[in-house]
Amino acid sequence: MSLFKDRLEAFPRIEPYRMAKAEHLWPYYKVVESAATPKFTIEGREVTNFGSNNYLSLSYHPEVIAAAQAATAKYGTGVTGSRLLNGTLPLHRDLETELADFYGTQAALVFSTGYVANLCGVAGFLGRSDYAVVDKEAHNSLVTAIRLSGARLKRFRHNDADQVASILADLPEGAVKGVIVDGVYSMRGDTAPLTEIVEAVANTPNAFVFDDEAHGLGVLGEQGRGAGELFGLLDEIDITTITFSKALGSCGGAVLGSAEAIELLTITAEPFIFTASNVPASMAAALAALRILRAEPERPRRLRANVAHLIGALTERGIRTNPAESAIVTIPLKHHDDVSTVFTFRDLFELGVFCNPVIPPASHGSSGLLRLSLMADHDADLLDDAADIICKVLTDGDQLLDPEAP
Ligand code: PMP
Repeated sequence: MSLFKDRLEAFPRIEPYRMAKAEHLWPYYKVVESAATPKFTIEGREVTNFGSNNYLSLSYHPEVIAAAQAATAKYGTGVTGSRLLNGTLPLHRDLETELADFYGTQAALVFSTGYVANLCGVAGFLGRSDYAVVDKEAHNSLVTAIRLSGARLKRFRHNDADQVASILADLPEGAVKGVIVDGVYSMRGDTAPLTEIVEAVANTPNAFVFDDEAHGLGVLGEQGRGAGELFGLLDEIDITTITFSKALGSCGGAVLGSAEAIELLTITAEPFIFTASNVPASMAAALAALRILRAEPERPRRLRANVAHLIGALTERGIRTNPAESAIVTIPLKHHDDVSTVFTFRDLFELGVFCNPVIPPASHGSSGLLRLSLMADHDADLLDDAADIICKVLTDGDQLLDPEAP
């Protein structure tokens, strides 16, 4: 018993955690009591939903639900085993074939989450004698993956492609170097400077580009394939990873690349080999959602129009936002310490707007932001009403940034 108590006391953020719990200010682990619709219910309160990543509103789409139900009826609730042994269904294969076709890669491999896809993708292609050159704001799964790989870690300033080039130039020519970025960064919603990064890699022997499109899929590019498509670089990116837990409204992830790269993962990637295969419902849902995305490119367009509408509504009310390059809109706050940020989150929640406060552990030093994820099914009235509430809460809480402030 005492061992665990000591460990808890040693946790560096234990005091703020206890205070936040005691004051009912802890913003995490709230219980959601309905589907992730534009308005949904959290702990008995109906709120406008800017807190889920259901970008294309597909998690509750009748065809996606029907596909999941049919798969459960046919194959059961679980496959009760790994892909390697008894867990490969036609659904896994169909999804992999359609994803590879969508991205124009030779192959794709499906994983139980996007997190595991990143673990396997990075650790599958980098080892102890290699270098991982990674953006300082890259997703936690990528950093954990690099640790797992044992590769030597070289971090570059967020979105600084010049620093990427200079780091690459200083590394031994013969060593393998993976340059790892998020096509869209999850906290600020900004895109990676992929053109410059691809160029730096092209000028470097033994280097490759690894692009996590978790927040790009379904959002950016004419067909919704992400930042790689938006910048016309899909052919130059060696490895792309995606998740099904955002725009595709399901759970799971995938690594996309050459046939040999993907085959290598099937025989070497331990977090893939030694874990259970995705449940049939999640595969069928992701497949149905992918087909809807491909058949209805107007869906990402609607989502992007909603982003533009919300930014316009906030700007009209004197609220500053960061440039919106994805479906994630961020609002910088005047008082950007963690406590003020959480108070603002709480006040918004109580007036019916649910968003994410950007505070540690996910903040990467860009604390003091409110993060709003848009959906295709948000509509103009709902966005205008939410903008009114945001304006009231920020004004009353003295959180409005001076539009002239740097
Ligand atoms: N990459 C990024 C950029 C993410 O934001 C996330 C999830 N927050 C993941 C990967 C992991 O995806 P999943 O939730 O499917 O594990």
